[in-house]
Amino acid sequence: MAMKTEILTLLRESGDYISGQELCNRFGVSRTAVWKVMKQLKEEGYIIEAVQNKGYRMTENPDVFSTSELKSRIRNRWAGRELYFYGETGSTNTDAKRLGEEGASHGTVVAADMQTAGRGRRGRTWESPAGRDIYFTILLRPEFAPDKAAGLTLVMALAVALAVEDKCGVEAGIKWPNDVVVNGKKICGILTEMTVETDYIQHVVTGVGINVNMDSIPEEIRESATSLFLESGKKTARAELLQAVLERFEEYYGKYAADLGMDSMLEEYNAHLVNRNRQVRVLDPKGEWEGVAKGINASGELLVENSAGRTVEVYAGEVSVRGLYGYV
Ligand code: ATP
Repeated sequence: MAMKTEILTLLRESGDYISGQELCNRFGVSRTAVWKVMKQLKEEGYIIEAVQNKGYRMTENPDVFSTSELKSRIRNRWAGRELYFYGETGSTNTDAKRLGEEGASHGTVVAADMQTAGRGRRGRTWESPAGRDIYFTILLRPEFAPDKAAGLTLVMALAVALAVEDKCGVEAGIKWPNDVVVNGKKICGILTEMTVETDYIQHVVTGVGINVNMDSIPEEIRESATSLFLESGKKTARAELLQAVLERFEEYYGKYAADLGMDSMLEEYNAHLVNRNRQVRVLDPKGEWEGVAKGINASGELLVENSAGRTVEVYAGEVSVRGLYGYV
């Protein structure tokens, strides 16, 4: 770990003064070198107090979204152990796919402060302004068959919903298959893309956009979108939230891969499903129809009871679901 990253970890985890001398000894550098790191950290937005005879102390948890901030937090076994952060990029999914081709390891994360070509499903745009929100993609090399990959979107949605509830103090729901909603509006979208080699998965990328501190919603999506800031009234430190998402994702991915399905998280998932027991309109490219959503099964399919009383299993692939009177 770079010295800056390590100093950041020490300051955050101690919460108290750390003497300059102690840091010098630890890293085998001069006082001036330590002072320079502190200066850099302050320039990046950290609030660091320096008191004679006591040392340095970090007093706040500002929303710094950067390589060092993320690396100083993420302690997972594999999710985010290899990490790339960009101030600006086209699309983190595109970056992660390229890294996948180049042999990057399972769990590699690409995060960005801004995307110029953020994508949703079916070529739609994901609004990705700078300085407020989270855009990241995780590269996965699962050993299971390609038909299980769609479930990764559901596992990620659950990880995001749980992390949001924990860190932001709002109730988060999942709109099957790929959105997380707060108070009926979308705060997160997920896009899973897979590269297949005849009948096995080369790699999968799962990309996530979370509206964190956005304080006004772009006109085009105002009807259906909101942000965690607008719903909770509080700013959230993005790196802390991303850390929480990745921790949960690592855990739940483990369960998914072990069971080859949602078996062990079915109840938790269905408890978060906003469509549950509601009338929905299934937007299947082969034809639209209406029914009542009952929950998902272990394969991640949405169980929808049609007007004839028959339960139909809807596969996540290319389908969207709408409420009859609006987005949820
Ligand atoms: P549906 O909206 O039909 O459920 P979806 O969930 O598959 O579709 P995606 O394709 O994942 O949607 O996301 C793209 C859509 O999300 C865009 O067409 C736009 O309506 C909306 N959108 C774009 N940017 C944002 C954003 N930052 N926050 C919330 N919604 C957004």
